Amino acid sequence: MKCYIGLGSNLAEPLIQLQTALQQIEKEPELQLGKVSSFYQSKALILPDAPPQNDYINAVALLETDLSAALLLQKLHKIEASQGRERNEKWGARTLDLDILLYGDLHIQTKILTIPHAQMQYRNFVLHPLFEIAGAIDIPGLGSLSEMAQKIAWDGLKKLTKH
Ligand code: ATP
Ligand code: CA
Ligand code: CA
Repeated sequence: MKCYIGLGSNLAEPLIQLQTALQQIEKEPELQLGKVSSFYQSKALILPDAPPQNDYINAVALLETDLSAALLLQKLHKIEASQGRERNEKWGARTLDLDILLYGDLHIQTKILTIPHAQMQYRNFVLHPLFEIAGAIDIPGLGSLSEMAQKIAWDGLKKLTKH
């Protein structure tokens, strides 16, 4: 199955966190790493009244895997944990966040998973890097990625030089 994942970090050397995560993915026999977007710098999403946070580094990557979406999520959580991810408050700062954006063209809605990722259409730090590597795909249930990427403002999002 072709899957797209989103990577994000805003703690403890975010650039290195993303590079390390990509290396860990490459080492997993059950995951084949495909195209990786440029790295992008974005303003943190914070809840109303939450304290300010460092900017994030984000990227999107293509993975090929035979794992089910639930097992893929488990693997991604294991990689997050190995890089010191702690889950405290919602949308708190984190060393590494790995989200499944798309799993083939499937819709999945379970207790632990919503695919396509429930917030992806609202997030410039997802749509722009995804468009960079996936171009003209359709997002199941949402339509043309290029139209969505064209519509969403950059609004503080910056593409960094290719790593
Ligand atoms: P957001 O989902 O808004 O990006 P987050 O990434 O900060 O928030 P987490 O604390 O990392 O949220 O994850 C909370 C739970 O979200 C996970 O334990 C997982 O079960 C669930 N989840 C649902 N859909 C997905 C998905 N597509 N990818 C990753 N996790 C998901
Ligand atoms: Ca997330
Ligand atoms: Ca997450």
